[in-house]
Amino acid sequence: MQILLVEDEVRLAKALKQILEEKNYMVDMVHNGEDGVLYGMSGVYDVIILDLMLPKLNGIDVAKKLRADGIETPIIMLTARDSIRDKIAGLDSGADDYMTKPFSPNELLARIRAVTRRHSEVLADVINFGDISFNLSTNEVACGEKSIRLNFKEAEILKLLFLRKNVPVSKDEIITKVWGYDSDAGDSNVEAYISFIRKKLAFINSKVTIVALKKVGYKLEEKKC
Ligand code: CA
Repeated sequence: MQILLVEDEVRLAKALKQILEEKNYMVDMVHNGEDGVLYGMSGVYDVIILDLMLPKLNGIDVAKKLRADGIETPIIMLTARDSIRDKIAGLDSGADDYMTKPFSPNELLARIRAVTRRHSEVLADVINFGDISFNLSTNEVACGEKSIRLNFKEAEILKLLFLRKNVPVSKDEIITKVWGYDSDAGDSNVEAYISFIRKKLAFINSKVTIVALKKVGYKLEEKKC
């Protein structure tokens, strides 16, 4: 699970990063609103923890920009202020939850679990593309009567391709999302997994295939016949 932490109080940010990493979250930390937008736009995070008062661009504007750009990553807004008006503005801007400083790390961890759970419940259990249905809880892909189970990484990659529909997903994005920032995985790992998934799609006789677009990435396409 990857978290983007946007907090200009460097000491607090470092302390939070450490707490989150102890719980095995992968954390990227930035210290102003503009970087928050830049990183958040990548769409690779599972949660964004966003301070309200930030240099360059405040948290409300960061959330608004991300939402306007179609980024649906759950956002937990942090603030030292606790007036009702700030809360409403934060939630109106597209934040999913709100925490007033100071807060206990345990409470933050609980909120992270809650927003990510809610977010994954919003995603249907079964998603469809062309003649395939893809069950996200069992990692099974089916076409007509035939079905096959994907392993964890294959399923994560196919999910990215499904959710992005016609927009290609780059190899770098796949590596970051499926293997994580710090991994040694490279293009050849992605290529190998794409070929496993293609074989499984062929096994269930699907007309859907993964096309490679040179220098851009991969996307799903349904073969015409
Ligand atoms: Ca601040």
